[in-house]
Amino acid sequence: MTVKLRKFPYPFRGAIAICNDCDLMTRESFQKIHAFLNTAESTEFGDGLGLDIADSVFWYNNNPYEPDQLAYAGLDGKPTRDAGFIRECIEKGRIDCLHAYGDFSHRGGFARKHAETAAEEMEKRGISFRVWLNHGDRHNFQNIAAEYLPSLGDTPEVVMTDGKTYPVWEYHTDITTALGVRYFWNHTLTEILGQDRPLSRTAYYRELAAGSGSGGGLFAALVDKAGSLFPRGSFMSRAAKLTVENSGVPVFGGNDLLIPHVLGDGRPVCRFRRWGHWRTDTSEALGEMLSGENLDTLIRREGYAITYAHFGKRREPAGPLLPDSLVESLKRLKGESENRIWVARTSRLLEYNRAWRAVGGSSVFRAGGKTGDAIHLVYDAGGDPLAGTSPQDETKAAAGLPPVEELAGLTWYFDGDYPPRVIHGDRDADFRENPPDHEGMRSITLTGNYL
Ligand SMILES: [Zn+2]
Repeated sequence: MTVKLRKFPYPFRGAIAICNDCDLMTRESFQKIHAFLNTAESTEFGDGLGLDIADSVFWYNNNPYEPDQLAYAGLDGKPTRDAGFIRECIEKGRIDCLHAYGDFSHRGGFARKHAETAAEEMEKRGISFRVWLNHGDRHNFQNIAAEYLPSLGDTPEVVMTDGKTYPVWEYHTDITTALGVRYFWNHTLTEILGQDRPLSRTAYYRELAAGSGSGGGLFAALVDKAGSLFPRGSFMSRAAKLTVENSGVPVFGGNDLLIPHVLGDGRPVCRFRRWGHWRTDTSEALGEMLSGENLDTLIRREGYAITYAHFGKRREPAGPLLPDSLVESLKRLKGESENRIWVARTSRLLEYNRAWRAVGGSSVFRAGGKTGDAIHLVYDAGGDPLAGTSPQDETKAAAGLPPVEELAGLTWYFDGDYPPRVIHGDRDADFRENPPDHEGMRSITLTGNYL
């Protein structure tokens, strides 16, 4: 008998999330766009697609140039007239990402007290978030620091030249992780289509070069390869890295969707990679990213893609709210979502990917015994990207077996005569049986409920 973990939920062969930064969105544009994306109503863009595409939200908006952007509260903490609408969207699963604590571009103004006030309101209303997306320019001190982007959101204190320690005015990640946020996007953008698949260093540069249509990737590949022959951190290794970066090509740093990360305050979380291009982040560009060719490539590579998208940004601002080319692409995606590409909101894809790594691969099938034939769900801290490694301690903190609803979608090929039981802790987890997939193999999928 064969029991083998499938990469994606049946029947899918690739996965995509349209992960939108809510910049420039108003309540009106949000309603119109999401009616098309999420419902079956007839809309100005055609029949609604009914896809699981969620969005992000600004809690505050302090951008002096974009006063009409959708936001939950004023800087004084008072809910705006759109707060009820936003809560409704969160409840319906149409908003699942916090776009930082809001838009503080051009003017700054974020302080820890804003996080405290937002958290109070969220607790009162039973709102929580799993995903954080950094936003905007250098004035957004609330952002999570990246290697090349210093920021203050996860820095609890600074030591001044006189040796005195001061708490950082903008620090908030103790509050934010307590709200449930575990997946942080801190500007890790990749032009490589398809995360979480085997990708060698050489193949990485080859794909980059093919994507940009330049030979730059090949040069970078050679220099990076030469640098890798020297010890890590040595002068030659660092010189190679610098040369690659100066040629405008990002140095190969793996291709996992989730990357274990320790915040500046020592809290273990995950970062994630988003797919897209810095220079072209408009609606028109999203339409091009979702071309038939790219969707085929994603399936061939059996990869994940969390897109870097801005429904509110237009190359041709005078045109319709969604350009025709993007509407066409989204309809194509709808077609693929029937049985080839799993289209799911960002938080769902990230949660699934984490469960696949932390539980799916380590779970074991045992024939007979006390439970009879059964797949036992086993937690593996070593495989869990969220378990993290604290800077003081090299051992991974065991977060324990996640609740069954976070494991929904895990799928095993199963060729026995009857489906086995699936045991979560000491209870039976609910699953459904699937017909043969494109490889002619039957499988079972966890539904995220207890029997
Ligand atoms: Zn943004």
